[in-house]
Amino acid sequence: MAEMLRVEDVEKYYGNKSNLTKAIDKISLSVDKGEFAAIMGPSGSGKTTLLNMIATIDKVTAGHIYLSGTDITKIRGEAMNRFRREMLGFIFQDFNLLDTLTVYENIALALQIQKVKPEEIDRRVVEAAHLMNLEQILNKYPYQISGGEKQRTASARAVITRPKLILADEPTGALDSKNAKNLMEHLLELNKKREATILMVTHDAFTASYADRVIFIKDGRLYSEIRKGEKGRKAFFDKIIDMMSLLGGDFNDVI
Ligand code: ADP
Repeated sequence: MAEMLRVEDVEKYYGNKSNLTKAIDKISLSVDKGEFAAIMGPSGSGKTTLLNMIATIDKVTAGHIYLSGTDITKIRGEAMNRFRREMLGFIFQDFNLLDTLTVYENIALALQIQKVKPEEIDRRVVEAAHLMNLEQILNKYPYQISGGEKQRTASARAVITRPKLILADEPTGALDSKNAKNLMEHLLELNKKREATILMVTHDAFTASYADRVIFIKDGRLYSEIRKGEKGRKAFFDKIIDMMSLLGGDFNDVI
């Protein structure tokens, strides 16, 4: 499969000489086009830092990150904003929807900014809403819908621009288990039907078990990775739990 994302020898330090934190210590990894990958690791292992550098929200200290062949550590200013808008889709733990816009308007916003024609916007919103099962609530406001519906709206918003990569940061973090399962099934469908490439950070084994592959990091370094393979989600979930116990740290609190 073609490579979509490549992280090459990335390092990230915070602070100064007398008080240096090595948040990421030479990480290299890649994600293929159409792959659904998860990153797990104990608290403080560098997950958020890594995701933020891929999102161009934070800068690398050393190394390179290529998205679809472009070195994104070299992009600056307006080009970076454009890159973020056009190449990436974001799903955050706390949804980040605009309260004064309806579900439809929240999903459509990125295309309006890109000045896409209204008929095309409508066609794409309807398609994304269908995929995320939001057809019945398109005219509601965020305060009128459930947490699960909010996160499915955020997911529809993330795919509407047809980004090269969807970055999800603890997407089920604010959901109960029923809504978490529902969201993950929709994200899986998005990945399989639309061949969306997804990179997700989570501390939750159930959420991670929907991915094709889980990459474990510890102390800012790659620790190991496991693949789902043919055995299915339940067997993969058990493998993830085993790896979490092996890794230790505050993982043990959530098992
Ligand atoms: P995780 O997401 O796995 O919990 P983080 O990426 O948030 O881990 O943090 C990795 C390490 O970098 C931690 O030791 C954390 O304290 C440190 N760190 C993260 N952000 C900053 C920052 N802005 N300034 C200083 N240290 C930071």
